Amino acid sequence: MKKEYKLTFEMVPEECWYANLRSVLKPADWDRVRRDAYARANGKCMICGRRATRLEAHEKWSYDDKKALQKLEDVVALCHACHEVKHISRTQLMGRGAEAEQHFMKVNGCTQMDFHAALGETNEEYVRRNKIENWTTDISWLEGRFDITLF
Ligand SMILES: [Zn+2]
Repeated sequence: MKKEYKLTFEMVPEECWYANLRSVLKPADWDRVRRDAYARANGKCMICGRRATRLEAHEKWSYDDKKALQKLEDVVALCHACHEVKHISRTQLMGRGAEAEQHFMKVNGCTQMDFHAALGETNEEYVRRNKIENWTTDISWLEGRFDITLF
């Protein structure tokens, strides 16, 4: 059975990369979305709960593979260490994979084997999703909360 972890990896299918919010929102609007997440976080990382002087906004997407639907679920405020785990591929490429691995194990209370198993599953999911074409993007979460105009 697949284990449920507090801190997980998130890989965005290649075709959805354009849907990065900060590239489709006006800078002032992205600022509002980001600040709203920081305000809700109240100085603490929304995943590991540790206090951080500087939080980072992270877009949380869900994927319905059958409908090829990418949906924005939330914009959360994370500490740098959790954010690095979310974007594990990039973090590993930057040579900071070991730190991210440690943080994943600490937050989830799991072993290195668990880390590798979880990463393997996420990679498989990523490969599978990359074969799906014509994704549509649902950002109603955003439209319901902010009076926002897209580019
Ligand atoms: Zn954290």
